[in-house]
Amino acid sequence: MSRSKDPKTTIVGAGIVGICTALALVKEGVEVRLIDRDEPGQGASYGNAGVISPWSVVPQSVPGAWRNIPGWLLKEDGPLFIRPSYFPRLFPWTWTFLKQGKIRRVREVSDAMETLNQNNIALYRKLLAGTGFEGLIKDSYYVHAFRNPDAADIDAIDYALKREKGATIERIDGAELRQLEPALSLDFKTAIVTKGQARSLEPGKIGQVLFQKFTALGGEFLHADVTQIKPDESGEWTVETSEGVYKAPKIVLAAGAWSGMLLAPLGVKVPLEAERGYHVEFPDAGVRLNNSVMDMDLKCVASSMNAGLRIAGTAEFAGLDAPPNQKRIDMLMSCAKRIMPDIKLEGVKSWSGVRPSSPDSLPFLGEVPSYKGLFAAFGHSHYGLMMAPKTGEVVTDMLLNRPVNADYSPFQVNRFTT
Ligand SMILES: Cc1cc2nc3c(=O)[nH]c(=O)nc-3n(C[C@H](O)[C@H](O)[C@H](O)COP(=O)(O)OP(=O)(O)OC[C@H]3O[C@@H](n4cnc5c(N)ncnc54)[C@H](O)[C@@H]3O)c2cc1C
Repeated sequence: MSRSKDPKTTIVGAGIVGICTALALVKEGVEVRLIDRDEPGQGASYGNAGVISPWSVVPQSVPGAWRNIPGWLLKEDGPLFIRPSYFPRLFPWTWTFLKQGKIRRVREVSDAMETLNQNNIALYRKLLAGTGFEGLIKDSYYVHAFRNPDAADIDAIDYALKREKGATIERIDGAELRQLEPALSLDFKTAIVTKGQARSLEPGKIGQVLFQKFTALGGEFLHADVTQIKPDESGEWTVETSEGVYKAPKIVLAAGAWSGMLLAPLGVKVPLEAERGYHVEFPDAGVRLNNSVMDMDLKCVASSMNAGLRIAGTAEFAGLDAPPNQKRIDMLMSCAKRIMPDIKLEGVKSWSGVRPSSPDSLPFLGEVPSYKGLFAAFGHSHYGLMMAPKTGEVVTDMLLNRPVNADYSPFQVNRFTT
């Protein structure tokens, strides 16, 4: 692989967002150098729940969301954990997060989410076509399983928003749920099922396959840690890495939860938090799921994947440098039995990684104000796998300064500061 130091558009971060952006740019004939300190397709992009939904149009902060937070925090096995010493640092982000939960704002965010998600299944299928790995994406329902039937409110805001955007959603009883997913616990008495979705059978592999496509089209990969990016007087960018100093006419910052660290020395502040999530994966689970299943009480998502049955979830705020928390893994292990009593736990593998989370659930996309040639492509929160293909197209439009027939303003980097 060429390691030339010639100026090339440089993408920092080869998670699914960086890879899809690299692929979109190289297809347009742009010379691209993609840099990562890890192997491509790792990071959060490896360990997620694999849900790909055109109907993912509901942000994390919705009206009344705050009411759940104290209860979740008090429960040892709750879906949310904030390291006590991290509370003060998290407060501004949390405050901004809660302010997004007003119905008017939720509708604006929902429309913007739709911009990135509406064709995500078709876009993935197009990207994977001809690679031999088309089967990495499978049609699926999203089964939201409830123990308490009274909690399954099909008219709640989240389902209403999805329906408004065209989703087909049905409420089914326990018997119908058993037919759809025989492995689920009898404790689940009802479910709300969203149709017309897909799921990835191996999220990390999707990244690897699309990365290979990128290099086959002439893209360059540099395995290096980027330590600093800075503009120089000639209008170009200098990229300092563990493998030397490179020049770039333009940079796309797609470094996931680490993106803010590279922006901070430039004086650019973005409300981006590292929201750690976990998964446990059972290679010989002895049970299978036919769809993505969310346990609506425990807030974790289970899905049968190529390497086994994966249960992913939990939101932990403890900062970027905090080590993984074994208690969260133990919690997911106990969820496994509560979701599927017959699951075999032997040989379990656990993983954790950080979501790049913004207060409004939307990514930061586009040129960073006052820094010509520096483009943001990070902050995809809980939705980066599904939003990545469209993000690649949007960032390409922006970088090539193309006239577009869509409103990209909800993704502006400075939307919280202006
Ligand atoms: C438990 C869990 C479940 C999830 N479920 C889903 C789901 O079902 N569907 C969905 O759409 N999304 C889901 N997500 C969210 C999704 O995984 C993320 O939004 C997405 O992976 C973010 O992709 P990314 O490319 O921005 O970041 P990452 O995948 O984290 O990639 C960032 C890359 O940048 C590199 N990097 C950072 N700094 C530097 C540097 N200085 N130098 C060199 N390289 C650097 C890192 O090594 C990394 O490879 C989930 C996340 C988690 C944690």
